[in-house]
Amino acid sequence: MYRKKLRDLLLQQPLSIRHIAELMEIPIRDVASDVEHLSKSLKRTEYTLKIEPAQCRKCGFRFRKNKMTKPGKCPRCQGTWIHHPLLHIDPR
Ligand SMILES: [Zn+2]
Repeated sequence: MYRKKLRDLLLQQPLSIRHIAELMEIPIRDVASDVEHLSKSLKRTEYTLKIEPAQCRKCGFRFRKNKMTKPGKCPRCQGTWIHHPLLHIDPR
C-alpha cells in the first residue's frame, strides 16, 4: 500500500511535502494527512518522523517546528524565498 511506500521514501531521504506529492502523484493536502497517520503509526515502532523546520533563505529565520507545509512569508524580513520543511524518518 502507498503508506508503506511513503515510509520507505522517507527512510531513504528527507523530502518536502511538495516533493512527496509529486513522487506519489497525489494532492499536497492528501500528503499532509497521510503523513500525520504515518507519524501516529510509527509510535509503536522503533522509528520516528522528524520535521526539519522551514527556513527563510534571505535572513535565516527558522520557522516553528512540526509544521509540515511551507509558510507564505517570513515574519522577520517579509521574504518569500523559503526552504520547504523536510520530513524524514529516523530510528529513535
Ligand atoms: Zn527572513
